[in-house]
Amino acid sequence: MSRTNAGPVGSYRQSQEIFGADGIFRVGRKLNGAILSSAKNNSTKRLLLFAAKLGYQTRSFEEAARKLDVQLIYVTDRCSHLEDPWGDHAIPVHFESPEAAAYTVMETMRDREVAGVLALGDRPAAAAAYAAHGLGILYNHPAAVEACRNKLRMREVFREAGLRVPWFRSLPLVPAPEPSLAGISFPCVLKPLSLSASQGVMRANNRDEFIAAAARLRRLLESAEIRATREPHLDQMIVEGYIPGKEVAVEGLLTEGTLRILAIFDKPDPLEGPCFEETIYVTPSRLPETTQCHIAECARNAIRALGLTHGPVHAEFRINDDGVWPIEVAARPIGGLCARALRFCSEELKEPIGLEELLLRHAINLTGSNAIREPQASGVMMIPIPQSGVFEKISGEEAALATPGVTDLLITARLHDYIAAWPEGSSYLGFLFARGGTAAEVEYAIREAYKKLNFVITPRLPVEHPATHKLPASG
Ligand code: ADP
Repeated sequence: MSRTNAGPVGSYRQSQEIFGADGIFRVGRKLNGAILSSAKNNSTKRLLLFAAKLGYQTRSFEEAARKLDVQLIYVTDRCSHLEDPWGDHAIPVHFESPEAAAYTVMETMRDREVAGVLALGDRPAAAAAYAAHGLGILYNHPAAVEACRNKLRMREVFREAGLRVPWFRSLPLVPAPEPSLAGISFPCVLKPLSLSASQGVMRANNRDEFIAAAARLRRLLESAEIRATREPHLDQMIVEGYIPGKEVAVEGLLTEGTLRILAIFDKPDPLEGPCFEETIYVTPSRLPETTQCHIAECARNAIRALGLTHGPVHAEFRINDDGVWPIEVAARPIGGLCARALRFCSEELKEPIGLEELLLRHAINLTGSNAIREPQASGVMMIPIPQSGVFEKISGEEAALATPGVTDLLITARLHDYIAAWPEGSSYLGFLFARGGTAAEVEYAIREAYKKLNFVITPRLPVEHPATHKLPASG
């Protein structure tokens, strides 16, 4: 087994004491030939927000920033050819080169104070870590974030830390591997090394399924869309033993190495493959208290093994008779709109706040980031795409919204666009939210509302390639 990106992961504490009581970062040191100025006593703090997509979640950050009088500076890879292409003073970078992105950020910010960083998404998190490291801002070490971005490295780290891991190995996609020669047993799971949102993740129960899944993964990783991401290791996959059991997601917040669990979400739909798109998340968890303590312990151990120390984390675990198995830890908050399922309260705050405001407060060391999740149960359904095709029509939205307990329905897929189901897909039709007295009520509300929705998706007719006269491969 080859080691990947072996770096200084493990318990790590950033040494700089850089925040004053006001949370402002103060430095006056030489960096790449530039002198970063000492902080001026400016009451508006700046936060660098590393984000690949600007949308609902970044708007929630903007609202929170306005409320807290924080200046958000986007660092994004939407485009890098123009000076200020979006008129929002964003810093354009390429996330596939996180160190270069960090350098650009440091150059741009060289005379300006930065109070904190946050990253949305796995790719921006790596650039954020390098930039924070360079700017002397409390955040995760880059090596720890890099380990989270590589599923093979993560398994190695977990195994070395004595955590539960299935058997795993990395295999090239070309030539097509023969499972009996590669020591594969069934059932197993095939995954790309660095994509996210379960894209390309498939279960195989026998040799035929393995060969079909490997070919499908290869087609996906060779597609123009995925190649354009310039992710590394697109010619490889990781294959690992299938872990049966229930799955939960954990939302957490690290403060200088100490983990606070913000929420444990049960995933009440069985996630048994062949693909693993998410559906319903409900919190609080209905698992026994002792199981939840074991999940928290496993989360702490997995995070310590990776070396993550500061900022939001989102992690997945499976639970079965053998105990808790870490599936994945990401150095970022829960994706996209799902954050809306979380609200936090504390005595210092006049009203409940969202996850984005909590994270903003934490990142710039303001009070209120110790708020705890509201007492109400809450849930979200990531509405899966039943089949790939053109999204023609949706009906039943009003009836779904009128379902008792349902608080919101947002359809994010665009009408008349082609939408891809899993494993090729990676984004949902939309999000359905509910709140209630108990987790069971919330789950019931979501299921009832979902039954009222009707989506019309028509298969796209295959178009012959004009030069080769070939039809695209299906699946
Ligand atoms: P991604 O980063 O793309 O979300 P993950 O490794 O987290 O990839 O896998 C996505 C989902 O696939 C998991 O949430 C889980 O449901 C399922 N999965 C992944 N690995 C395994 C495994 N070894 N056994 C069972 N299910 C798995």
